[in-house]
Amino acid sequence: MNSPRFMIACDRCDQWFHGECIGIDEKQGEFIDLHFCDRCSQETGKTTSWKPKCGNPACEKPGRVGTHQGYLSKYCSQNCGMQVARARLELADMKRKRHALTQHVQEDEPVYSASIPDLVIHRQLQSQLNTCSEQQDQQRLQQIKSIRQQALEHVEMIAFKHAFLTSLPEPDNGTCGFDGRLTMDDALWMEAYRAAQVPPTAEVCSLGSKQCPRHTQWARLTGQVLALERQEQLHVLQRLRREKQLIQSRKQHRHDPVHLAQAVGHGAKKVNT
Ligand SMILES: [Zn+2]
Ligand SMILES: [Zn+2]
Ligand SMILES: [Zn+2]
Ligand SMILES: [Zn+2]
Repeated sequence: MNSPRFMIACDRCDQWFHGECIGIDEKQGEFIDLHFCDRCSQETGKTTSWKPKCGNPACEKPGRVGTHQGYLSKYCSQNCGMQVARARLELADMKRKRHALTQHVQEDEPVYSASIPDLVIHRQLQSQLNTCSEQQDQQRLQQIKSIRQQALEHVEMIAFKHAFLTSLPEPDNGTCGFDGRLTMDDALWMEAYRAAQVPPTAEVCSLGSKQCPRHTQWARLTGQVLALERQEQLHVLQRLRREKQLIQSRKQHRHDPVHLAQAVGHGAKKVNT
């Protein structure tokens, strides 16, 4: 009974609640994006929102997608991204088909009809459409600006990491040669990118390449994971651009004197000037 109990903070009033008192266990807690306590829910009409599950079907963790952290990846970790990339690769090899994953991705031609960040943004977009206050639009535009900056920087970071990948030397004498820096956290890579300095030397796998099942085809797979991550970010940027246009046209509409007059005329019979 002495172990610390799992607690959740309300994202509006900052009060903390025991998970067991509000019926959320620790495992579910990992999936909370924004939590609103009962009182705040009643006052604002907002309800607790959840993060999507990791894009690896075999994984039970949340993806790195959230209001606070932004849209990092639909996978919980680099490792899950690798697993999915590997599965895809095997499938593609089996079918002996050329796959589009390694091809250069055009910003306006997403290969995936719906990625997880896409769905999350879409949902937010829908809920934004129902709200029409000038102030909320203004807030959302600010938000869009900062998410956009994040995504742009993320794309740059991915390019930086990709340059690092291609700069790695061919492994000697049939060793695996996997460089541990490739699985470092995004946060560390972001630091490295901002400092324009590749992270200091890490462990390089020295197993024989045939004896290392963990890193099979690591260079190719990492390249694919990076291409996918880049594509996700471009997709996010595309959605943000559309949402921004939408909000701007709505603002325009609101300030347009003709529409304003119509709106006023609806309520009152005539406005004398
Ligand atoms: Zn609250
Ligand atoms: Zn309690
Ligand atoms: Zn995962
Ligand atoms: Zn290895």
